[in-house]
Amino acid sequence: MNRSSNLKLLKENKSIFDFIIIGGGATGLGCALDASSRGYSVILLEKFDFCKGTSSKSTKLVHGGVRYLEKGQIGLVYEALKERAILKKNAPHLVKQIGFLIPAYNYLLKFYYFFGLKFYHFISGSLSFDKPQILNKETALKFVPNVNNERLKGGVIFFDGQFDDSRMGIDIALSSDINKALLFNYMSVESLIKENGRSKGVVAEDTLSKNKFSINGASVINATGVFSKSIMDMDSLKYKAIIRPSQGIHLVVDKKFLKGNIGILVPKTSDGRILFAVPWLDHVILGTTDTLVDTPLIDPIPFDDEIDFILENAQKYMSIKPKREDVKSVFVGLRPLVARDMKSKSKDISRKHKIIISDSGLVSVIGGKWTTYRRMAEKVIDKSINISKLDYKKSVTADLQINNGLINIDYSKESLSKCFYLSEDLIIHYVRNEMAINLDDIMSRRSRCLFLNIKESISIAPKVVEIMAKELSKNKEWEEEQLRQFYKLTKLYLI
Ligand SMILES: Cc1cc2nc3c(=O)[nH]c(=O)nc-3n(C[C@H](O)[C@H](O)[C@H](O)COP(=O)(O)OP(=O)(O)OC[C@H]3O[C@@H](n4cnc5c(N)ncnc54)[C@H](O)[C@@H]3O)c2cc1C
Repeated sequence: MNRSSNLKLLKENKSIFDFIIIGGGATGLGCALDASSRGYSVILLEKFDFCKGTSSKSTKLVHGGVRYLEKGQIGLVYEALKERAILKKNAPHLVKQIGFLIPAYNYLLKFYYFFGLKFYHFISGSLSFDKPQILNKETALKFVPNVNNERLKGGVIFFDGQFDDSRMGIDIALSSDINKALLFNYMSVESLIKENGRSKGVVAEDTLSKNKFSINGASVINATGVFSKSIMDMDSLKYKAIIRPSQGIHLVVDKKFLKGNIGILVPKTSDGRILFAVPWLDHVILGTTDTLVDTPLIDPIPFDDEIDFILENAQKYMSIKPKREDVKSVFVGLRPLVARDMKSKSKDISRKHKIIISDSGLVSVIGGKWTTYRRMAEKVIDKSINISKLDYKKSVTADLQINNGLINIDYSKESLSKCFYLSEDLIIHYVRNEMAINLDDIMSRRSRCLFLNIKESISIAPKVVEIMAKELSKNKEWEEEQLRQFYKLTKLYLI
């Protein structure tokens, strides 16, 4: 996947693409892979870097939909179970089974969760992961030695899926590239092209060179998550729905807070939210929150009360209590919720994805989950084929292997850090083959250094940027500017 050769192809291309996809998160990349693997011509335009938005800031779970069971939404449970199984089959290098302990401090709840999860396991049939187990106090402590044992009555272990979100995004991008999709990061859609009231293309700006491109397509798909309304407004100011971003933060702490590979799940905290402590890449993620915000930002800012909420609740369920000074990184994602008006409360707004087709034929897809990105993309492309009157070709992604971009990496080379693996070879690989342009692209989404440990990321950044500069033939000024931008960004991940 190479940006310069894609630019050359774009400049030479005089034909009309079948699909123009705006946004390079889970939704846009999923659409690019679905359409390109069916044999359609596809271009994808991402304003910043692939997965720079919400798609690198999730809880990293491939949910089998157990939460829908309590609400009786069996259709959603099956969809999530099916997609979890497909994702595990097609990207086994990224999707793993993970166990969670639901600690029980009263017997009634322990049995309630156990029988609920037993039923879930039963209906999951061949799609199920390992079966849930009911545990006494001693066994619960063997699984999770650091769960708060005061008044503990045991608990229930159940299994779900876990992945690395932005690595999945990059691998989907690479798979789309193999299927001849033309992908661009740092390419911002600035306006839409219309002909006789029909949407026919976009004007995009290469934010690196400032060059502008008019790109024509049979179908234009708006997959810009919390930014969807800005693209919808380019199409028509008629659309009244409001996209209310709901913010979710995660804190990253040392693995000593959990010990072992089993996480903790608290189904209902003091204010009715779910709390996770998830082992991930040799660290532990604590999250998350659900706070409505007014304006979407690409780098959202965590609120102090969100940080306090997570720490206070984690302290209740862990025997080694995480404090502010233990937090190595904090990252913030925004859920795009489609609300009827500004008064709607977060919990009342549906989390199901929505496909909105405008009078001009612009297809906007908003919301959903990483777990079901493939199915969502299939539905969006099916609908778009219909509207744009392209010849119908069936989706093949249910059986399409996702490319492992790091399959040939030799991990015996020296790492720049002891906290995580990042070698010179890997940095060169990210630049040459994965379209890493800026320091942040490597530190945040190709590797996950920034998400794991800010201080360590800051200390290795000068070396990383030096290797990048050599590979990209950039001067000292570029290095200094990259470091300046990066240090500014790290302030958002520090508490
Ligand atoms: C806190 C939190 C935790 C979550 N945890 C999970 C989980 O554990 N499991 C799960 O399955 N799901 C989870 N989700 C949901 C999942 O992360 C999202 O559904 C998914 O990432 C949304 O992807 P997206 O592509 O729609 O949006 P985004 O990832 O935000 O992508 C939109 C992209 O559009 C780009 N863009 C905007 N404007 C333009 C423009 N003018 N031109 C070009 N590009 C543009 C942006 O730069 C951005 O990259 C979580 C969500 C949150 C907020």
